[in-house]
Amino acid sequence: MPEGPSVRKFHHLVSSFVGQQVVRTGGSSKKLCPDGLQALWLQDTQVHGKKLFLRFDPDEEIGPPGNNNPLPERPCKGAQKEGAKDQKQALGPSGQKTSDAALHSAELLVPQGDDGPRCLRGDTPAGGAERWLQVSFGLFGSVWVNEFSRAKKANKRGDWRDPVPRLVLHFGGGGFLAFYNCQMSWSSSPVVKPACDILSEKFHRGQALEALGQAQPVCYTLLDQRYFSGLGNIIKNEALYRAGIHPLALGSLLSPSCLEALVDHVVEFSTDWLQDKFQGKHQHTQIYQKEQCPAGHQVMKEALGPPGGFQRLTWWCPHCQPQLSPKEPEQSQLS
Ligand SMILES: [Zn+2]
Repeated sequence: MPEGPSVRKFHHLVSSFVGQQVVRTGGSSKKLCPDGLQALWLQDTQVHGKKLFLRFDPDEEIGPPGNNNPLPERPCKGAQKEGAKDQKQALGPSGQKTSDAALHSAELLVPQGDDGPRCLRGDTPAGGAERWLQVSFGLFGSVWVNEFSRAKKANKRGDWRDPVPRLVLHFGGGGFLAFYNCQMSWSSSPVVKPACDILSEKFHRGQALEALGQAQPVCYTLLDQRYFSGLGNIIKNEALYRAGIHPLALGSLLSPSCLEALVDHVVEFSTDWLQDKFQGKHQHTQIYQKEQCPAGHQVMKEALGPPGGFQRLTWWCPHCQPQLSPKEPEQSQLS
């Protein structure tokens, strides 16, 4: 699943559509019912950890937030090739939405008749105060702007099938957003815990250090989103390597300076990663999925996780990240 920096990038992409009205929807999501977003205004977007939140408000209450947004009825220009043509279809005489041919999906058409399987009450923002759309991304989750994801290779049957977006939002300004491989649900407000978000200015180091100091392997604690929201497997491996800490080291046996260094590396690596994303650069990893560490040592790889919990592939260098025996709670070699 995309880690904090990737979701921040998605947030940045979505931000440019804030203040615009949804003029057309598409996507394969059955749970969400993309139709329910029709004519709503995207009013805000937030990112918390690995989750993205979009706030939608109905027309009558808020209206256009500014006067420099094109009217929602205005057909899209240029940005989407299929836009102008589908626009007519989408807002056709019956007002019924039709499928978007560009999406190659049979799941797009959601009957709108009174007896049809409309969205369940309470599952749309119109019915209540639940106006925040919460988006959680799967392993290959992504957000695309003004273009659709294309198949990068053929599937097992040899078909070149493009991924099907879960949700497509066309905006009055002419652009569109496509959300892939994600789960969406409505909520009343984002569960805001910036103190846990490794990329938030409000990230609370003290709280993080306290969590890491528990008598359990640090590689388990790092992935605990209650303390390190946004931290995923790549950041875990890289921060541990850079801090010179063995993934199975018990937090309670590490010196305070060692734990400090680990938190420093978590924040530094994540921030650099985010910056690289904005500059279109690929994040440089030193240990994740490597055969050798930068010092040339053979790297170990093993699936590690709490008993009965999710085991995540973990890479570490036995030289640069030595396992401490319980008797020597000394700081590690690299820090
Ligand atoms: Zn090494």
